[in-house]
Amino acid sequence: MSERTLHATYASASRSAGEQAAALRLLLARTAADPDLALALTRVDTTEMKGPLDSAGLRAALTEAEAECDVNAALAERHHRRALAGVALGTSCVCGHSPATHAPRLTEDGRLPCRHDDCGCADLDFP
Ligand SMILES: [Zn+2]
Ligand SMILES: [Zn+2]
Repeated sequence: MSERTLHATYASASRSAGEQAAALRLLLARTAADPDLALALTRVDTTEMKGPLDSAGLRAALTEAEAECDVNAALAERHHRRALAGVALGTSCVCGHSPATHAPRLTEDGRLPCRHDDCGCADLDFP
């Protein structure tokens, strides 16, 4: 690498770090003034986030978090109902189909309808 290239490489790295530092200074100042923002930032799990935290990146992460929230809420409901009924894991719904055949998300009115063709079971229920 030539002297000239090294110079440019370090200058570029310095600029990037400077921009990073400026961004972090801004976040520190804003979070110090806004406890809700500070709390929100502590709750953002960046482990699986890739790319910049611009609005597109944030929207993509939001969509993923909402989907995960819904799917896990449905799984929790499924197991809660099974526990209430006192039946073993793997027990089928009264319609004869497995709990996994039922909706992966709760409907707006809190139901888990069966997805099997022509079943018509409106909500997961254990015998
Ligand atoms: Zn069913
Ligand atoms: Zn069914």
